[in-house]
Amino acid sequence: MNEIKEIEVIPILQKLIQFKTINPPGKTIDAINYVKKILSEKGILCEIQEYSEDRANLFAEYGSGKESVVLCGHIDVVPAGDEKKWAFDPFEGIEHKGRIYGRGATDMKGAIASYIAILLKLKEKNVKLTKKIKLLITSDEEVGMGGAKAALNTDIMESTHFLIIGEPTELKLSIAQKGVYWAKIKVFGKSAHGSTPELGVNAIEKAAELIAKIKTTIPSTKHPLLNYSTLNIGKISGGTSFNVVPEYCEFTLDYRVVPSVSYNEIREKINRILKLFNSKEDAQAKFEEVHIIPPIESNSEIAFMGKLKEKLKKKNILEIVGVTYGTDGAVLVPPNNTDFVIFGPGRLDQLHVTDEYTLKDEVVTYSNLLLETIIEVFEEK
Ligand SMILES: [Zn+2]
Repeated sequence: MNEIKEIEVIPILQKLIQFKTINPPGKTIDAINYVKKILSEKGILCEIQEYSEDRANLFAEYGSGKESVVLCGHIDVVPAGDEKKWAFDPFEGIEHKGRIYGRGATDMKGAIASYIAILLKLKEKNVKLTKKIKLLITSDEEVGMGGAKAALNTDIMESTHFLIIGEPTELKLSIAQKGVYWAKIKVFGKSAHGSTPELGVNAIEKAAELIAKIKTTIPSTKHPLLNYSTLNIGKISGGTSFNVVPEYCEFTLDYRVVPSVSYNEIREKINRILKLFNSKEDAQAKFEEVHIIPPIESNSEIAFMGKLKEKLKKKNILEIVGVTYGTDGAVLVPPNNTDFVIFGPGRLDQLHVTDEYTLKDEVVTYSNLLLETIIEVFEEK
């Protein structure tokens, strides 16, 4: 039987939790070396890409064939916060009542352990496939996605038939992800004494007018899986005291974008607002883009997705969703418009929390769902 047993995946998860791949600082090389060791011991081809000091990606592959299915996950984790508040040591991987506790148990060492177990099982059973199964473990997903960006400099994503990103989705299939558009708007006025505001130009008041204008102009667009795009003004700063007319104010835009929205359109809209503002007002405003992640969407009707849906339906847990959090997919998908799914074990309420845990059974179920689907769709007939 090609079945992954609990003992073949959970101890790997526990071991992975024990590597403190906390980001920042983001040191992942020890965990990556461990994965390389357990895979290459069984004869699976592995390569490490150390793209900056102590930070590395791992590439592994099984089988032959021109095209590949890429299993992708990040090994870095967010800090554990106040460790004293944890009921269990966040870096032990302790098992308690069917749960595995630890930082990264859900986000996302559970999926990585599953990927490793899948490769080991395929190798052990010498399954002949028509596609390569590649493993891509990245670093720095939690801080800027440096690992995924470095991976694009290699041939890992070449001829990718399908990409699976194992971020936690509670075993739901996510085929859409919101994008992120961060910009800063700077407003320059003119200072004066607070008792004679008519002699100055109040940058804070002008910024408030601009915020109102931007909020009504930037579209709120609905997407069937991601709901509405949202705009949050997260930070505003300016001014010095009660009695000074402020000469400077700046505020931030955090726009979470659905796939149908184009960034060029947003840029044009903001530029038009500022141009009009600058021509009419005594104040001047400028804008600066700070951080941009594109939204992604997959309409994949390929056989792999069909089979996976069938299996989830049989278990009565088929659900197609979108995710609002970011994943490496934002970097890996756009260059070739790769077909993808975000699909992994782990409860969404366990992301980045104290006492993070994952359900043992869910990790085992996930491992076998993917393994069975790979074999049923890609085994050489
Ligand atoms: Zn994650």
